[in-house]
Amino acid sequence: MIYDIAIIGAGPAGLAAAIYGQRAGLNTITFEANVHGGQIINTPEVENYPALGKVSGVEYAMGIYEQAVGFGATIEYKAVVDVDLEGEVKTLKCNDGSEYQAKTVIIATGVVRRKLEIPGEDRFLGAGVSYCATCDGLFFKDKTATVVGGGNTALEDAVYLAGICEKVYLIHRRDEFRGARHEVEKVLANPKIEILYDTIPLAIEGQGNVSTLKVKNVKTEEEKTLYTSAVFVAVGLVPQNDIFAGKVDMDSGYIAAGEDCTTNIPGVFVAGDTRTKSLRQLVTATSDGAIAATAAAHYLDN
Ligand code: NAP
Repeated sequence: MIYDIAIIGAGPAGLAAAIYGQRAGLNTITFEANVHGGQIINTPEVENYPALGKVSGVEYAMGIYEQAVGFGATIEYKAVVDVDLEGEVKTLKCNDGSEYQAKTVIIATGVVRRKLEIPGEDRFLGAGVSYCATCDGLFFKDKTATVVGGGNTALEDAVYLAGICEKVYLIHRRDEFRGARHEVEKVLANPKIEILYDTIPLAIEGQGNVSTLKVKNVKTEEEKTLYTSAVFVAVGLVPQNDIFAGKVDMDSGYIAAGEDCTTNIPGVFVAGDTRTKSLRQLVTATSDGAIAATAAAHYLDN
C-alpha cells in the first residue's frame, strides 16, 4: 500500500505530525527506532509548555503518544536506514529489510546528545557515565555526581541531581552559562552544586565504576582530580540526518527549511529539532509537526 504520509521519528514533532495528519483524514505511518517520546523523556520537568503547568517529560511523551494513537496513528518500531525521496512515490527501507512507500515524507528524526570524546567515556558508559540524568540519577543517590555542560540541559540536570545526590559538580568550559537566566539562578541558589567555570574534563577514571574525573582549568592550566561516582554529559546535540546526506539540502547537519517546514525536495517536509531553526523547544517541535503535516496535506491536494 502507499501511505499518504510517512513520518520518520516519534518524538513530539513526529507525533504532532501524526495527530494533524490523521485528523486531516490522511493515512499516516510513523517510524521510531527507539522508544516514542524523543528527547523530552530525558527532561525531569516540563514547565514552559503553554497551559500544561508542570508535567514530567515521560508524562508528556505518554500523553502525545496516546493522543496520536487515539486518532488512529500507526507506529512501527523499526529504524529507517535508507530513503529514496525522488519522484511522486517515496520509498523507505527499514533495518529489518522491509520497505514502505508514501506520497509524502516528514523527517522528524530529532537529535542525540553530543559526546565528550575523552578517555573513559565509552568504557564507563552505564558504569557512571550517562547522557540522561532523569534515567540514571537515582543510581547515585547520596553520592557525588558531576555534570558537564553550560546549556539548559546541564543546568536542569545539575538541579535535578542535587535533589538526589549529596553533592554535584557542574563543569563548564567558559565563565558564562549558555542556558537561560532563570535556570542559572536555580543553580546558583543551590548549596549542593559547586560550579567549576573555565574547566574542561580530561579523563574519566575508575576500577569497574567511575571514581574520579580529571579536569583542567583552561585559563590557569591547572589540572585537578574530582572524586565523583558519575559523569553526566550534557554538551549539546547532534542532528540525526546521516541517511538524508546528499538527498535533501542541509545546513551544518540540520535539514534546511524555514518556518513552513518545506525542504528543497517536493513532498518532503521536516519538523522539530532536526530542522534549521533558532529555538529548539517542545512547543516549537509540536508546532513544526502541525505545520509539516498541514503542508503535506496541501501538497497532496495539489
Ligand atoms: P546547548 O544549548 O547546545 O549547550 C551545550 C553546552 O555544552 C554549551 O554550554 C557548550 O559550551 C558546552 N559544550 C559543547 N561541547 C562541549 C565540549 N566538547 N566540552 C565541554 N563543553 C561543551 O545544548 P543543550 O543544553 O543540550 O540544549 C539544547 C537545546 O535544547 C537548546 O536550544 C536548549 O535551550 C534546549 N533545551 C531547553 C530546555 C527548556 O527549555 N526547559 C531544556 C533543555 C534543553 P559553550 O556554551 O561554550 O558553547
